[in-house]
Amino acid sequence: MDFSQRTSLDVVVLGSGVAGLTAALTASLAGLRAMVVEHRPDIGGTSARSSGTVWVPGSHYLPSPGADEDREQAARYLESLVGNRGERAMWEAFLENAPQMVDDLARHADIGFRPYLAAPDYRQDCPGAAGGGRPLEPLPFDGRLLGSDFSRLAWPLPELMVFGGMMVTRGEALELLRADRSPRAVWLAMRLVGRYLRDRLSYRRGTRLVLGNALVARLFKALLDRRVPVLTEARAKRLVEGDGRICGVELAHNGNTLTIEARRGVVLAGGGFPADASWRARHLPEPVAEYTTASPGCDGTTLALALDAGAALGPSGLDNALWFPSSVAKRADGSTAVYPHIVLDRAKPGLIAVNASGERFVNEAVSYHEFVRAMYRAQGKSPAIPAWLICDRAFIRRYGLGLVRPRSVSLRKHVANGYLRTAPTIEGLARELGLPPKTLAATVNRFNGFVFGGVDQDFGKGNNIYDRSNGDPAVSPNPCLGPIERPPFYAVEVWPTPLGTSRGLRADVHARVLTESGQPIPGLYVCGNDMQSAFGGEYPGAGAQLGQAMTFAWIAARHASGADSADDGGRRSAQHSTTH
Ligand SMILES: Cc1cc2nc3c(=O)[nH]c(=O)nc-3n(C[C@H](O)[C@H](O)[C@H](O)COP(=O)(O)OP(=O)(O)OC[C@H]3O[C@@H](n4cnc5c(N)ncnc54)[C@H](O)[C@@H]3O)c2cc1C
Repeated sequence: MDFSQRTSLDVVVLGSGVAGLTAALTASLAGLRAMVVEHRPDIGGTSARSSGTVWVPGSHYLPSPGADEDREQAARYLESLVGNRGERAMWEAFLENAPQMVDDLARHADIGFRPYLAAPDYRQDCPGAAGGGRPLEPLPFDGRLLGSDFSRLAWPLPELMVFGGMMVTRGEALELLRADRSPRAVWLAMRLVGRYLRDRLSYRRGTRLVLGNALVARLFKALLDRRVPVLTEARAKRLVEGDGRICGVELAHNGNTLTIEARRGVVLAGGGFPADASWRARHLPEPVAEYTTASPGCDGTTLALALDAGAALGPSGLDNALWFPSSVAKRADGSTAVYPHIVLDRAKPGLIAVNASGERFVNEAVSYHEFVRAMYRAQGKSPAIPAWLICDRAFIRRYGLGLVRPRSVSLRKHVANGYLRTAPTIEGLARELGLPPKTLAATVNRFNGFVFGGVDQDFGKGNNIYDRSNGDPAVSPNPCLGPIERPPFYAVEVWPTPLGTSRGLRADVHARVLTESGQPIPGLYVCGNDMQSAFGGEYPGAGAQLGQAMTFAWIAARHASGADSADDGGRRSAQHSTTH
């Protein structure tokens, strides 16, 4: 589509992550003319780097009957987990709409998923937590279907691909590790690598897309099919206000100023502020996270536009972010690799995390979000930022450690560049890390003493199904407990890194942006990490971010189209929001 200096549409969406693409697609499905504006050269934001899991309790993907029951249990769960940290009406709106959203998009736009039946919710200590089925995995997508637009799709994190350009799911990665024992794994390896090699004759990376890249690509394809434009490298200068409502956006693009009229509304979907140091300094806890795995485009500029238009941020929460512990290394080209320790190593048997006193401070198998929260909590007592993950050579051979893949024959490169620290004894490793040698040795001895009985008496590592789902099923009695005993010993340093931010624009159940006094700003909507977390910054389970993002994007677009509720007439009024 060519854009003249004035173009008139129904909905303009700022941001091309899963939230933005879902909003534009839903608007288009409702018969509106929509467009997506992205300020980066590539499409997909942090979503394209993510695992793409979407947390939707009670979806039609669950074996029936059970969906209604699951939704009720999920309400108990969120009530207990979120408490008064988030608005009840918001998470209730999520629970009500999320299943309808996935059903609608599957039926009308082929946005399909499959349930992870063995992915337990993260907080098994809260009533209503499920043992699996709420997280949905995006179906693989063939990038070739995007034609020349494939090159516009943002790349996953290089460290999470194989051979620098081949995507695999976690299940495939686990299967591939069995390639020396299992004919099925050999066949899988041959298929994946064969396809990848063929792809590389024509493309810069593999075209078999999985995880978040597949979800973004599938949404993008649906937009291409419906002729919804995605304009990249366009900077939003201001929101245009007229007749008491937000009715467009002024953009800078290719040296021109474009004014795009948005008759039904503007949707903000800029992914929050994880990538902007000054926003981080203002809103995240001390010591302020220096690194992030989020897209560099998530810099708070959409939030600033909204604040200028009279919007308000939601209340400051416990820490205003969603977290990974990450290790950091220099790439060959000099850029910084930030590796998120999500599920592959911390929960496995034979690893502990220690603070600056050489003591454990956390159950290493908790979710990434809770792990970082424990790092911050420990600060007051003995600093755990950075913390050290400690294991032995046998552990790395079997499970890998961060950037070091399982079965790595030599660790020399990682030791030489300082990513891995090593010593032949635990005391020697402590000296290498600047930790008290006697304390670290005592910590390791005590942990090793828990292995035989299978009970971590200090932190309960492996005590619940979430922990165990990331342990090693071949190890008993506790799949998360194993000894650290065979030299040499290794350590890697981990830091808190926001994968996204949870403080965002205050919104109501229709995803309308609110002012400080709780009044909706007509024509202005928000979704994804630009919106105040409906879960009050808590992380209920895998896919909680994208689940919320897609749901409120769907709600926003449907409200803008008038599909699901009576509009408020579209004028700013003294009337207060319908949040409750
Ligand atoms: C490695 C990794 C794995 C993850 N796995 C999962 C998972 O499996 N499930 C889950 O729920 N969450 C996951 N997350 C978190 C999740 O990816 C994010 O919370 C989510 O992608 C946020 O979606 P969004 O659409 O709000 O923002 P994004 O996907 O970040 O998209 C925002 C886009 O808006 C653009 N933008 C910003 N400002 C402007 C502007 N002013 N004008 C135009 N464009 C703008 C940005 O450049 C960006 O492209 C993961 C994160 C990481 C890093």
